[in-house]
Formats: sequence, structure tokens, C-alpha cells
Amino acid sequence: MMDIGANKPALPKAYAAWTKDANLRFKSTSGGIFSELAFFVVSEGGHVCGAKYASNHRIEHCIVHNASGIEELRQSKYAQSDMADNYARIRELLRNNETVAFCGTPCQVSGLKKYLGEDSVNLISIDFICRGVNSPKAYQSWLKEIEEQEKSKAVNIWFKYKDRGWKASPKRTRILFEDGHSKVLGQDQNAFMEGYLGSNLYIRKSCGACRFKGLPRESDITLADFWGADPQFDTDQGTSLVLVHTEKGQRLWESIAGRIETHEQELFDIFEKNPMFDSSVNISPRSDRFLESLNHYRFSDMVKKYSKISIGEKIKRKLIFCIRKTRSQSHLNTTNSRTDCQNKTVRKHGKGKNLAGKLLNRPPLLYRRRKDCTGCSACYAVCPMQAISLRAEKDGFLYPRIASEKCVCCQRCVAVCPMKTQKN
Ligand SMILES: Cc1cc2nc3c(=O)[nH]c(=O)nc-3n(C[C@H](O)[C@H](O)[C@H](O)COP(=O)(O)OP(=O)(O)OC[C@H]3O[C@@H](n4cnc5c(N)ncnc54)[C@H](O)[C@@H]3O)c2cc1C
Ligand code: SF4
Ligand code: SF4
Ligand code: SF4
Repeated sequence: MMDIGANKPALPKAYAAWTKDANLRFKSTSGGIFSELAFFVVSEGGHVCGAKYASNHRIEHCIVHNASGIEELRQSKYAQSDMADNYARIRELLRNNETVAFCGTPCQVSGLKKYLGEDSVNLISIDFICRGVNSPKAYQSWLKEIEEQEKSKAVNIWFKYKDRGWKASPKRTRILFEDGHSKVLGQDQNAFMEGYLGSNLYIRKSCGACRFKGLPRESDITLADFWGADPQFDTDQGTSLVLVHTEKGQRLWESIAGRIETHEQELFDIFEKNPMFDSSVNISPRSDRFLESLNHYRFSDMVKKYSKISIGEKIKRKLIFCIRKTRSQSHLNTTNSRTDCQNKTVRKHGKGKNLAGKLLNRPPLLYRRRKDCTGCSACYAVCPMQAISLRAEKDGFLYPRIASEKCVCCQRCVAVCPMKTQKN
């Protein structure tokens, strides 16, 4: 077991950082800090849980125990990952006094922590500044079209390919095919990143009003792209922004000091160029129609069709974004306004229904609208009766469904749901 110390929340320390290993930096999305943290954890006998590409173009979390496993977790994957049974597996490891580093979206970190119920000294949680996750249905339709064009199966997807530098990388994707050839999709050919970054066409509904932004965070460490870093820290090879929230995170951070370049930053100066730190995206109002259209039409044609927006709509979206941004300016206040919002949610969808469900002996209502569920899977993991399954809905995202004949109305699933419980 690693000695990773106690957990004391405080205002985070902020750093610009990157690995000294140029090859690792090139292969990572920003500065390769995730891989360095993960290498250290496994070198000490610990385990790392993160997202990897699985069969049939699915993305799922898995647990790895050695350096070669970390290869699979490296790089951002831009569709939502399936958590499968990993929360339960992490709990088992922690109960056996093993160290586990978990890396995922802020809502997945929150789901895991609610599921575990108490802060385990052996869990290190790493989240990232998160724009939002895309529908697996959209991702798979895009790849299907590309495979048809290239007449070969795609075997590796490398988003944010840095062959022309880090700043050009967001719309560059390299795809390796089964027959050995590869293709780099640039800005004009990259329909998937266009629909994601340009039009927000297939982002999960819960990301449009994300409750896991700003500060405080539930993780020990937050990673991000350090867009807008001082030029002395940005050689266009990828610079990570790192926020260290807890003493536990700080101990891990110091453990990799010899392998990275790091420069402390003023916390208050760094978020202007990374609006996703405290603001949510405006999901396209045509998102549902777009996802439905994929049942009949080609992905790239539909991105073209549904990405066209009128000037009036553009102004409206910009205004909504600015209003939301102004409202969230309290993000550096540790007594975060999100608490109010979450309290409302508890009143609206949580306690009331929970109590009613209990009294009436009925299965609970896990979510009323799709935007009230992040798909984190904490409810699925906690159910003692295996009454909850996660199923893909029309939009291609996983949502929990309760088999009422198995449910004993214990309400545990409601109690762990991070969308219903108040942030501490
Ligand atoms: C969907 C998504 C949206 C993001 N949005 C932003 C943003 O708006 N602004 C910003 O600054 N940074 C964003 N990031 C984070 C950024 O892209 C880098 O991942 C981060 O800077 C870490 O880079 P790295 O080089 O240290 O490590 P990398 O090797 O890039 O990090 C890989 C780690 O990310 C995790 N991961 C990858 N894909 C997923 C996924 N689909 N779901 C859950 N976990 C995943 C893996 O588990 C792995 O642990 C986003 C990442 C993702 C996956
Ligand atoms: S709700 Fe969406 S934007 Fe928010 S943390 Fe989860 S995946 Fe990211
Ligand atoms: S109420 Fe209890 S038994 Fe029913 S689905 Fe939720 S956790 Fe499972
Ligand atoms: S309903 Fe289940 S999957 Fe959805 S946010 Fe709540 S705990 Fe996560």
C-alpha cells in the first residue's frame, strides 16, 4: 500500500506542467501528466482505472496494473465511456487495502465517491475540465462511414493528433486501419470533431447544465489543456493545466516531480481561456433530430445539415453562454452556488419521490428528464438486487432502468445519485 496521506480540502494549487519524455508528451492529449501519475501509481503496486477503446467501437473504463496497461488508457476518447462493473471492483481493491487511481469525468468521480460512501485514503481521484461527452451512437456512425470509405476496419483512433502542433490538434484525428494504412483527418474532413466542437450536436443532455463545474471539486487532482498559457510554458507540444486540490493529491504530485517540468501559476489567472472550467456548453436544440436522422442517413451529411445555424440562432446561443458564464463567476468561492441548485434538485426529484416511493413501496424515479442523468452508473453499482440495468436509449447514451419485479424499494440508488445529493 502506498503512503498517500490524509485528505484535507483547500483552494487548489495550479500548475503548468508537462512530461520531460517528448514521445510520451506527443502521444498524450495535453502534457502527458495523466500517464506520469499513472506510471507512478502502478510502479508502487497500485491500480489505475481509466477509459479505453473496447470492441465494436465502444469506450469503457477498465482497471490496469502495469505500465503497458496505461498505454490503453492514454488520450482523450470523445464518446461517453461505459463504467461497467468498475465501481464495485474498485471497492473490492480498496477493501483489500490496495491503492487505486481513478481518472474520469467529474460526474464519474462524483458517482464513484457517492457509491463508496466514505473517503478512502487509498483512492486517488483524477478528473478533468470537461466539455461534455458525446453519444456512442454518433461516434459509431461516424466510424462506420469512414470504414466504408476506406474499406477497412478502424483499429485505433487518435484524437487531437499533434503532427502539426498542439494548437492545431483539436480538429486533427489519426485513424489506423486493420489493413495497415492510416489516415489523418484535418479540419475540413473531421466531421466528428466539427459536430462536437463546432455545433455541440451530440453531447449528453446533462452536460448542457453540468453540476460538476468550477470549485470545489470532488477529485484530488484536476487535469486540463492549458490553453492560453504564458508563451514561456507553451512550445506547442502540449501543456497541461493541473489543479491539486488535496493533500493526498499533493503527495502524488510531488512523487512525479523528477519526471516533469512544472511551474506554479496564479489560480485566478488561468481560466479565462478555458471557459469549460465553469460553464456548460449550449447543446444544439436539433440534437435529438440529428441523432434520430443517423438511423437513415450518412453521418457527415447530417453534420453538414444540422450544423448550419442562422445568425439569429448564433447570437441567441452566444447570449445564453454569456449569461451562464456571468452567473457562474462565483466559481472560486468555496461555498459554491451549486449547492442551491442541487438542493432544488433534491426537493424536486430526490427526497420527495424517494419518500413517496418508500411509503408506496414503489421503485424510485431515478430521473425525470434525460438531462437529470449523467449515466455515471452509481445507482447500477449500488443496487443490492441487481434490479438496475444500463440501456442505450434513442440518443445512444446509457440510462438506468429498474426491473420493478426485482426492486425491493430500498432507495439506495437514489441516495448515491450525484444528481440528487448535495455536494459537500
Ligand atoms: C470527453 C472529454 C472532454 C474534455 N474537455 C476538456 C475541456 O473542455 N477543456 C480542457 O482543458 N480539457 C478537456 N479534457 C481533458 C483533456 O483533453 C486531457 O485529457 C487532459 O488535459 C489530460 O491530458 P493528459 O495529456 O495528461 O493525459 P491523457 O493521456 O490525455 O488522459 C487520458 C485520461 O483521460 C481519461 N479519459 C479519456 N477519455 C475519457 C472518457 N471518454 N471518459 C472518461 N475519461 C476519459 C482516461 O481515463 C485517461 O485516464 C477533456 C477530456 C475528455 C475525455
Ligand atoms: S455532466 Fe457532462 S460535462 Fe458534466 S462532468 Fe459529466 S460528462 Fe462532463
Ligand atoms: S430501490 Fe433498491 S432495490 Fe430498487 S432499484 Fe433502487 S437500489 Fe435497487
Ligand atoms: S440516475 Fe444513476 S446513472 Fe443517472 S446520474 Fe443518477 S446515479 Fe448516475
